[in-house]
Amino acid sequence: MKKVTKYTRAGREGRTIYCPECNAPNKVYHFSWSALTCGGCQQMIDKYYFCIKPRQWRSNQGRSPRNTEQNYKVLGVLLLIAWTASVILLTMKLL
Ligand SMILES: [Zn+2]
Repeated sequence: MKKVTKYTRAGREGRTIYCPECNAPNKVYHFSWSALTCGGCQQMIDKYYFCIKPRQWRSNQGRSPRNTEQNYKVLGVLLLIAWTASVILLTMKLL
């Protein structure tokens, strides 16, 4: 397992870090602290002593289709707006 570095980021869903003393998982949502009391052994552990699991490819692959779906939704809304606008313009011209 890798260690926490100054480049480690928690991300939107938080990050699970592992105590070097008792291996207990501790979930954090940011890294703007220098030491943390471990939930497992109640010891004050320095940030850079904590271990992290490298990000798995599976989570990245699971994220991309959802983004594509969201893009299609945005595109659909834009098309609907364009269609509505053209209908309004046509109606105004006919009147
Ligand atoms: Zn611990």
